[in-house]
Amino acid sequence: EPRVFSGVQPSGQLTLGNYLGAIRNFVPLQDTHDCIYCMVDLHAITQWQDPTELAHATRQVAAAFMAAGVDPDKSLLFNQSLVPQHAQLGWVFNCVARVGWLNRMTQFKEKAGKDQENASVGLYAYPTLMAADILLYKATAVPVGEDQKQHLELTRDIAQKFNHDWGKEVFPITEPLILGDATRVMSLRDGTKKMSKSDPSDLSRINLTDDRDTIAKKFKKAKTDPEPLPETVEGLEGRPEAQNLVDIFAALADISKEDVILQFGGKGFGTFKPALAEVAVGKLGPLRDEMERLLSDPAEIDSILHKGAQRAQAVAAPVLDEVYDVLGLVR
Ligand code: ATP
Ligand code: MG
Repeated sequence: EPRVFSGVQPSGQLTLGNYLGAIRNFVPLQDTHDCIYCMVDLHAITQWQDPTELAHATRQVAAAFMAAGVDPDKSLLFNQSLVPQHAQLGWVFNCVARVGWLNRMTQFKEKAGKDQENASVGLYAYPTLMAADILLYKATAVPVGEDQKQHLELTRDIAQKFNHDWGKEVFPITEPLILGDATRVMSLRDGTKKMSKSDPSDLSRINLTDDRDTIAKKFKKAKTDPEPLPETVEGLEGRPEAQNLVDIFAALADISKEDVILQFGGKGFGTFKPALAEVAVGKLGPLRDEMERLLSDPAEIDSILHKGAQRAQAVAAPVLDEVYDVLGLVR
């Protein structure tokens, strides 16, 4: 079966963007692919994390995956640091990727901000470790949000250069799977910025742990323009905040954008926002309850991650051996 890899960083509270852009799409792939889903904790530490919170967030991401429908018996579920081959192959790829390639990565520029000199080397090299995460399993499909497209192109470049430089077809060329109606959920405070779990403003995002009242409040406070919703989908162009809320509604209600407009075109946000909150609570409420139930037994989660990591190592170790042999590293 073709193999899927995807990871989520335990770098804060999971958001609606993580759910719609990634986690939700993990579930149906389990029927058609060999799936590997990972809490990428080594990526999270590219920016400082409180140790207690990092551990909790790791279990929380695992709980979210399972609550959404990832089955740890079918799919491999583990945290990245439990499988040392990720970091080992990451180093090899640091020697394959070119500085010029990494200099073009927009996520680094966004995350490092104005003070690039003070960003960690890890944040800069993040995409090479991400390429290792994927290629360590020779995965060919990666379900991600739109924001990861550039990193996946780099993954392809690394695979190609490796295969070319050592004259062996070791790595496959990976395809991104960018699925659904909400592949880039935007911040609720700024329609031009993506929703992120690491955004300092809690009002910018819906967290998967938010309760009913918080969800309603955040949508109510969401930035919009003063016009009512347009009568056609085309009318959303140039209105990023309205576009974002309509996309979110469509994705959560599992209907088309056209149908959202059919229902709410001409109506004001005072009508639309409470309806949106209702749909969100209906979808996220059960997810949140199930996450809470799973998190009440952290030892059980840890045991699932350990078993997942053992199975992952059984796949990863031979690939790393192959790479070391190709490179001429004596082992
Ligand atoms: P951080 O701000 O720490 O980078 P994040 O919210 O971007 O957090 P990641 O762990 O980097 O989360 O990404 C996990 C997955 O969620 C990736 O597949 C990413 O593409 C997807 N994703 C993240 N944000 C969004 C978004 N706003 N809309 C759709 N998908 C998203
Ligand atoms: Mg991110």
